[in-house]
Amino acid sequence: MSWQTSLFREFPEAVPQDQFVARSYEALHQQGFRADNAIAFVSVCRDELTMPLVDVIENTWGEVFMFSSLGGMLTLGKTGFLAAHRHAPIEDGRERYVYYALPHIAIDARGEFGVYHRPGRRDASHTCGALVAFQQELESKSLQLAVDPDDLEQSVLKRHLLGKLRYGDVPDLVSLTRIAYTVIFEELERMIRLTVDPTRSDYGLFTGIQIHVPEGRHFVWPGTAYVVVDGKQMTLPKME
Ligand SMILES: [Zn+2]
Repeated sequence: MSWQTSLFREFPEAVPQDQFVARSYEALHQQGFRADNAIAFVSVCRDELTMPLVDVIENTWGEVFMFSSLGGMLTLGKTGFLAAHRHAPIEDGRERYVYYALPHIAIDARGEFGVYHRPGRRDASHTCGALVAFQQELESKSLQLAVDPDDLEQSVLKRHLLGKLRYGDVPDLVSLTRIAYTVIFEELERMIRLTVDPTRSDYGLFTGIQIHVPEGRHFVWPGTAYVVVDGKQMTLPKME
């Protein structure tokens, strides 16, 4: 089996990451968003593998305010969201925000999910490592549920994911990544409801799953995307 077989079996709508960002820009540009009147916010995993996507977003929108945390979870809270919004340019009295939020997964040359061969390391490593660590903890049947002050981001990740699992279930990594996607999308919408005033601000929201494949190539499975202008929500077509 090859990575292509695995990629298009599980994520048939996946597109190269450049295309994902270009389509998001085109969709927002039609609604009056430009690099000089909008600011982009990005929530991806801390893993260096996610940075090429951030680079494409920065080349498109200018420097981004990073929301990132382990697994791509949104842990910055209201203070973080409000601070980010205050960095937006104001044009004709309005602010424009562009949110990107995506968990990630890797596929190796043999088509195996969660495996990535990093330069300078003999053994393969897990991607996303935070999700794999949680999966191993579920398998061990000795889950630490209390918030660990020495492991805050992973504690938040576990709490969110557990809320979506049936007791005793240990999902495979692709399923767990899809659950992480749902958690991140719902949390993003909740934080936007708590912090954005749609009478003053327009925004676009782009979610999905980042997929790293061999030879430094990166795809995105596009999830829910929409734009809110003057308080009205418009769903964007799946960006195939
Ligand atoms: Zn990760």
